[in-house]
Amino acid sequence: MIDSVFQPCQSATDQSQGHGRVVVNGKGRIIVVSGPSGVGKGTLLREVLQISELPLVLSVSATTRPPRPGETNGVEYYFLTPDEFHQKRKNGEFLECFEVFHGGHWYGTLHQEVESKRDAGKWVVLEIDVQGGLAVQERFPDSVMIFIRPKDRDVLKERLAQRGTESPESAEIRLKQAIAELDLAERYTHQVVNDDLAAAARELCDILESLI
Ligand code: ADP
Ligand code: 5GP
Repeated sequence: MIDSVFQPCQSATDQSQGHGRVVVNGKGRIIVVSGPSGVGKGTLLREVLQISELPLVLSVSATTRPPRPGETNGVEYYFLTPDEFHQKRKNGEFLECFEVFHGGHWYGTLHQEVESKRDAGKWVVLEIDVQGGLAVQERFPDSVMIFIRPKDRDVLKERLAQRGTESPESAEIRLKQAIAELDLAERYTHQVVNDDLAAAARELCDILESLI
């Protein structure tokens, strides 16, 4: 077990990577993190990358959703046109891909993105929806499966509103999907409640560190 300290590291510049002070031999692991939209997955993972000593790195997914203000191509996502996305799909470039909010946009994990990072010994974190997560687990059964839960359903509505990125229609669709996703949480090996952010980040780190 690593004695890690809950202190943001001032020298961390790339927010998509942890410090990686612990070197783990061999090919890196796949860590799937799922949970309903607005539960705080992104926020929690940023925190975990700050405090973990493991060689964690976020996988950058491809999507047809347009960038939100402040999002940059290649950082939060690879933003593709539907044509570009479906060409990659035809070419078999995706480890998994789905239309996440039905009738909405496509999201997918690129083989190249995950494999190049694993080959470099990184533990690659995939923040993806449940259908994508279960598809990854089928393909790579030794993936670490972590589901992030809200304390209760009302919290989701509040957090989505607080983030301020969704129209009322999009928030409604996301909440419906959230309820369906919560029913599949039992398929994940680990479940973490994101109530107090620091406690949830610590719990997630403990799960990962116990795998060394
Ligand atoms: P997700 O990635 O799951 O869609 P976000 O990380 O964007 O969710 O978080 C949604 C909103 O909830 C953001 O405004 C974020 O600041 C807030 N949030 C996340 N975790 C917590 C927490 N533990 N306590 C309070 N607010 C939180
Ligand atoms: P957002 O539009 O808020 O960034 O993401 C919406 C949803 O898409 C989230 O639940 C997120 O986990 C999921 N998602 C992001 N990337 C991928 C991916 O590559 N594959 C799948 N299946 N879902 C993804």
